[in-house]
Amino acid sequence: MAVKELFLLPCGYLKLDQSILTAGIGMGKIVNVPVYSALINTDDGVVLVDTGLNPDGLTNPERAWGSRAKVVRPILTEEDDIRNRLGQLGFSINDVKFVINTHLHWDHTGGNRFFKDCPIIVQKAEYRFALYPDSHLSSSYMENHFKHPLNYKLIEGDQEIVPGVSVITSPGHTPGHQSVIIDLPETGTVILAGDAIYCNMNLEESIPPGNRWSASHAMESIYKLKYFRSRLGGLMLPGHEPILWSQVKSSPASYC
Ligand SMILES: [Zn+2]
Repeated sequence: MAVKELFLLPCGYLKLDQSILTAGIGMGKIVNVPVYSALINTDDGVVLVDTGLNPDGLTNPERAWGSRAKVVRPILTEEDDIRNRLGQLGFSINDVKFVINTHLHWDHTGGNRFFKDCPIIVQKAEYRFALYPDSHLSSSYMENHFKHPLNYKLIEGDQEIVPGVSVITSPGHTPGHQSVIIDLPETGTVILAGDAIYCNMNLEESIPPGNRWSASHAMESIYKLKYFRSRLGGLMLPGHEPILWSQVKSSPASYC
């Protein structure tokens, strides 16, 4: 009972101001940042982390992103649809045993509605906040992305999901953010930080994300993830590092 391999699935890009990633730094500088999901193939079935951008945006941006479609313009292609990314590897929606949402922001939940049967694992604090967010943070939670009759499994705290795949809480970017720790047979540990660490600068220079619910919680989570990395070794993957694809292997290549 173990993890066999990890695929990082490209799911498009967001165009945004650098200071959204790094508080107070890079204002006015526009960067393209990748969006990705992770497919973890295990002896217990496929675990998917996050579901990418809403593919409705390809044909009908207003249906996908509502009135925000005018400001929110992700860059995505048909290939980036999570169903197509699974298909490229010979998997389908039905092969997925668990979805883990690091958090419920719109760029991590665009394909949630396709996963009707499997449990979708979210921290209870995140689900509560997504339903009733503080007004100044509400635009990142789009109900047409996450609020469907799905099999949400709300958890509280750190947990093993299947052998070799665990979640740990990493609040700050959002109240119920969680990161994922994967034990691979050859690569060793891979930590999917999610948006607790947007980019390398958050990690290396201890800069909180510009877009966050709580800066002090965000910094504690960065330190917590750094601690886990120093104890476990291995790879730490930020959520939206601009040069991510020059630093990691993207699907169909995999980590074993
Ligand atoms: Zn986010």
